[in-house]
Amino acid sequence: MPRATQKFTTWFFIKQTDIINLMDNKKWVVILIGPPGSGKGTQAELLAEKFGLFHLETSKLGEEKINNTELVKKDPEVAEAKRLYDKGELFPPPWTVKITVEKIRELASQGMGIVFSGSPRTLHEAEKEVLIFDELYGRDNIKAIHLNLTKEESIRRNSSRRICEANRHTIPNFPIFKDITTCPKDGSKLLKRELDTPETISIRYEVYLRQTQPIISFLEENGYKMVEIEGEQDIDKVYKDILKGLGE
Ligand code: ADP
Repeated sequence: MPRATQKFTTWFFIKQTDIINLMDNKKWVVILIGPPGSGKGTQAELLAEKFGLFHLETSKLGEEKINNTELVKKDPEVAEAKRLYDKGELFPPPWTVKITVEKIRELASQGMGIVFSGSPRTLHEAEKEVLIFDELYGRDNIKAIHLNLTKEESIRRNSSRRICEANRHTIPNFPIFKDITTCPKDGSKLLKRELDTPETISIRYEVYLRQTQPIISFLEENGYKMVEIEGEQDIDKVYKDILKGLGE
């Protein structure tokens, strides 16, 4: 094939791929709600990749801010959040909402869709944030997904998982991953979280029932469509059910 034709073919192929990728990019807000270990983080990564969504983790966002020493010095709210975090307490809820909303506005202005894996966590956050989602993305583009999981399975999954040091990618306790010692995605060290004991996971499950689950009825009562998913299936099957629920 002449060189010019070859160049054109390559260019054409790349452009086609770009177009296909662009076509799949969605301006959605996907909210995954479910108990610890129900697969929110896992599915959020898959959905982010498929639909070109930004995977927004509020806890990571908060940690980035409190680890920025300049910011801690000049912003008293960040300093207070750091003080609480260092004592093992939660970030102040109004501050969490504030930094999340700032990030949502920034992403929306760049035309990006978002997938949330760990927030909103409380009714307070949900009430504030959905107003912003409605305003910036429109009601039809808000996709809420409920991943169901029993307490027993939540404990089983979380007490045996490992996470990577750099980006907290989770490595399930599957036989194929037994011998790996570094993260397949970024090569960083794998750690077991000290917080992942059966007792603490059980408490986190109860906190989920009390503080987070009410968001489901709040959204339903306010006319948001909720996709119901049985989380106690293989990762692939959960993913397929989610795509089906999203009409994809
Ligand atoms: P969440 O974000 O809801 O707490 P994660 O996505 O972090 O849940 O998953 C918790 C653990 O369970 C991880 O080790 C993950 O790989 C594993 N996991 C997630 N989904 C499934 C599934 N469908 N079947 C088995 N293990 C799963």
